[in-house]
Amino acid sequence: MGYHAPVKDMLFCMEELAGLEQLSRLPGLADAGLETARAVLEECARFNEGVIAPLNAEGDRRPSRYEQGQVLTTPGFADAFSQFAEGGWQGLSHPTDFGGQGLPKTIAAAAMEMLNSASLSFALCPLLTDGAIEALLTAGSEEQQQLYLPKLIAGEWTGTMNLTEPQAGSDLSLVRTRAEPQADGSYRIFGTKIFITYGEHDLADNIVHMVLARVTGAPEGVKGISLFIVPKLLPKADGSLGERNDVHCVSIEHKLGIKASPTAVLQYGDHGGATGYRVGEENRGLELMFIMMNAARYALGIQGIAVAERAYQKAVQYARERVQSRPVDGSLPGSAPILHHPDVRRMLTTMRALIEGCRAMAFAAAAEHDRAHAEPDAEARHRHQALYEFLVPLVKGYCTEISLEVASLGIQVHGGMGYIEETGAAQFLRDAKILTIYEGTTAIQANDLVGRKTLRDGGAAARLLAQQIAATEAELSDRPSAAARAVLRRLKPGREAFEQVVEFVLREAKAQPNAVFAGSVPYLMLAGSLVAGWQLARSLIVAEERLAADHDRAFMEAKVATARFYAEHLLVRLPGLRDSIVEGADSALGLELEAF
Ligand SMILES: Cc1cc2nc3c(=O)[nH]c(=O)nc-3n(C[C@H](O)[C@H](O)[C@H](O)COP(=O)(O)OP(=O)(O)OC[C@H]3O[C@@H](n4cnc5c(N)ncnc54)[C@H](O)[C@@H]3O)c2cc1C
Repeated sequence: MGYHAPVKDMLFCMEELAGLEQLSRLPGLADAGLETARAVLEECARFNEGVIAPLNAEGDRRPSRYEQGQVLTTPGFADAFSQFAEGGWQGLSHPTDFGGQGLPKTIAAAAMEMLNSASLSFALCPLLTDGAIEALLTAGSEEQQQLYLPKLIAGEWTGTMNLTEPQAGSDLSLVRTRAEPQADGSYRIFGTKIFITYGEHDLADNIVHMVLARVTGAPEGVKGISLFIVPKLLPKADGSLGERNDVHCVSIEHKLGIKASPTAVLQYGDHGGATGYRVGEENRGLELMFIMMNAARYALGIQGIAVAERAYQKAVQYARERVQSRPVDGSLPGSAPILHHPDVRRMLTTMRALIEGCRAMAFAAAAEHDRAHAEPDAEARHRHQALYEFLVPLVKGYCTEISLEVASLGIQVHGGMGYIEETGAAQFLRDAKILTIYEGTTAIQANDLVGRKTLRDGGAAARLLAQQIAATEAELSDRPSAAARAVLRRLKPGREAFEQVVEFVLREAKAQPNAVFAGSVPYLMLAGSLVAGWQLARSLIVAEERLAADHDRAFMEAKVATARFYAEHLLVRLPGLRDSIVEGADSALGLELEAF
């Protein structure tokens, strides 16, 4: 099935929720107004709908293949990647100094969503390249930046993230890959990395591996990890390609989903040592990796929204076409398209409300990121950064978890045909499942939310968020409409539930860590759902204003309906979640270890 990019909803989120026009008044973002956004999104939609989306099912049927050290990607991927690079899409949000277009994340997020809706498997290669670019921008030496960034930003070379080893997944303190210092300042790298996305492929001339390793004699644990660039082909000073480095792909995995994206086992140093160049200071690798991970975690949340959107579009199309059973209200004399059945409408509305809520949350988070970089006032920058960092685990954790719910509902709407592979609905669910696992499982995001994002600042960012939500409640309470009242009725107890959980976490984390961490994923889900519902409440206020001015009636009426649905069917769950976190902590750990 084709993909139709939801440009209108994206522009609505950017304009009305993320405040793109105000953003474009900040220093350095003058070219990033609504007109630019519209032009970029329309072009991006054309490219993804026409070039990438048709490859998605093919990637599932004909995954990447491993042949004698080489990886051959799905037919069509290499050509599409050339077009992606030539179109300048890799450089959208990267600095103009290195050949990028310098657009804010608020616009880049929409482009990222389209690419991922078109094909998650394809989009992973640029996504990881973005991570490598971020790390080099933050900590690369000037020489490293000059050598690598223009090539990565142009899409001539691609990047990878090499964290995982057989014994080191969520726990990177166990990384064993070794780096031996050489007289010329470089290092020899030895070790095995597993699960490396696009660790080998035929899409670009070179692959720049960003590798976590331990310098000989470094301390144990995370304090002894450094970050290295290990290029597949060693570049000469002028950027031309030289010798093959001693890093080799020994196999790729067979997977549940994202089958076109090669997941490589990489062997470093079997033939004397791979040449690596340290990025940043020795033993500070994990901090740098976190920079890459933060960028990648945000992008993964976008992946969740993207695959959910594609699943939704397919389900709607099927629900219009499939004729089965007479409507219960007798509105049609005989069997009708299943879209007429209230339960099918409930499923489709749930899918749509989750997607729109998550998109609104993610774009608003992107705006916090952009403000954290562009606001002239240091205190404002700090505030926006704190909010952005609080939102990253919610975007990653919540948007990816809901992608499973949405993709599963998508299959349900199809009935038996959804379970049959050739229909294509099943691929979305299989593809989506990885999103709650890589770049840190949902539990790891939740640990981040509790530890780094709630406890570390004594709940300051969480309270700031709650204040902003309360301000929206005040706006809602001034509105006479039934929809505004209905949303307020659920948003307020949802926000209060969030505040009570935050206080519980702050109060009990030391005394009862098990109780707090047993509720950490529910806390993440509560917070994510609240922020998404809040953004939809803001959408409702805007939509009612636009309706009063008789502007774009059908779109605005749908926004009001979606916001109300979200409040009455999803926000309504939050007080229950609060109860299970705060009052159900004992039973969460009621089964003794021996009982399993
Ligand atoms: C298709 C694919 C692509 C990948 N791409 C990359 C890549 O490009 N680069 C890379 O470096 N890695 C990559 N990975 C690895 C991925 O990031 C890890 O699989 C992931 O971080 C989880 O680690 P693990 O598999 O070792 O699971 P484990 O760490 O063994 O986790 C198993 C379970 O225990 C839970 N758990 C573990 N620790 C905790 C804790 N502290 N608190 C609560 N629960 C916990 C987890 O949530 C999970 O449910 C990829 C993996 C896959 C499958």
